[in-house]
Amino acid sequence: MLKDFFSNITILIASFTVMGQILKNKPLHPSSSFKSKLYWGICYGVLGIILMLFSFQINATTIADLRHLAIVIAAAFGGWVPAIIASSLIAIGRIVLFGLTDTAIVAAISALLTGIVCGGFSKLNFHPTLKALYMNLIGLFFVSIVFTLYIEDTNTLLNVLMMHYLISLFGGFFSYHLSIYIANSNSAVRELHLSLIKLQESEQELNKANQFLNRLSYLDGLTGIGNRRYFDEVLSKEWSNLLTTNSPLTLLMFDIDYFKKYNDTYGHLAGDQCLQVITSAIKDLIANNPYSTFCRYGGEEFAIIFTKTKLDQGVAIAELIQNKVQSLKIDHSSSEVADIVTISIGLASMIPSSETQPNDLIHIADTCLYISKTKGRNTISTT
Ligand code: GH3
Ligand code: MG
Ligand code: MG
Repeated sequence: MLKDFFSNITILIASFTVMGQILKNKPLHPSSSFKSKLYWGICYGVLGIILMLFSFQINATTIADLRHLAIVIAAAFGGWVPAIIASSLIAIGRIVLFGLTDTAIVAAISALLTGIVCGGFSKLNFHPTLKALYMNLIGLFFVSIVFTLYIEDTNTLLNVLMMHYLISLFGGFFSYHLSIYIANSNSAVRELHLSLIKLQESEQELNKANQFLNRLSYLDGLTGIGNRRYFDEVLSKEWSNLLTTNSPLTLLMFDIDYFKKYNDTYGHLAGDQCLQVITSAIKDLIANNPYSTFCRYGGEEFAIIFTKTKLDQGVAIAELIQNKVQSLKIDHSSSEVADIVTISIGLASMIPSSETQPNDLIHIADTCLYISKTKGRNTISTT
């Protein structure tokens, strides 16, 4: 008999572990969804049936096992829904598997009553462990009635009852705490999984924010084109890229003529607007040129890096730019060169080599720009 009860306890432990694994994402507690309670109820019912298959045969029709513990644990964790489902399955299983006998009917009723009373008991408000112990005793009480009715020999009855109470109380205590342990581990794994997902989400958001900040740190706030930092990086990168290709790098620098006077005449805000209108027009003009990078070099001075572009091609673009600015017809009554805003342009071209530096190109283009200024402004100068 001890051997059979022992195999029942082993089945209980193994089944709780397997059930905990299968239903790990459907935790069972009184406020679980009906679906979760249904699944758990079915599992506990099947467990009860398996326990019956490994039962101890007392006489021709009476068997002893720990099936009531499946109902008790179902009620202790999920309330009356899984308890009733489990007890109904066990009641049906008792009759189907072992035949329609008086004992089977009474045992089936006993299982159902265990489910109903434990289900109702689960609603009471006191310590869960104590509640589980009382439910175990309720289950044992109904089992005792069946045994008392169908075991005639008093010695056998006392033996079976003593063994059953002992093993059930031990098995119930063990099953209850094992179930708590499995539920807690599953909940810890779920929380860990959720934290991982949240961590990944915040990492993605952080990356996006970093990319945005990075982009922002390369942009000029007023005009939206690349800033001086961007200019320096692109020039140095393109210089390195072209080092072995023998293709030219052309730098165009331009500066607005008499812009201080423009500010003095129309105000600083109008000056800002003027810078925005000019940059936007030039941006549109070179938008389709894949070899160009337009940046604000500083103040009212701008630069365009042209890769794979020869000086004469740069000059052609410079003329387009100059005409474009003139065609904007931005009034500049205090300019000494025209009554509209004009620009002076300096252009230089070099084939990058290890003997020269990007700064050399900047220096030459800047000198050309200075020459345009000294020549009377609104003009283009090259090397
Ligand atoms: P030049 O023809 O020789 O270039 O004369 P300029 O007056 O344009 O040159 P200068 O270097 O004397 O003055 C540049 C002016 O550009 C002074 C400064 O207030 C103005 N400026 C620079 N950055 C900005 C800006 O972001 N907004 C406005 N409104 N003005 C700016
Ligand atoms: Mg100027
Ligand atoms: Mg200037």
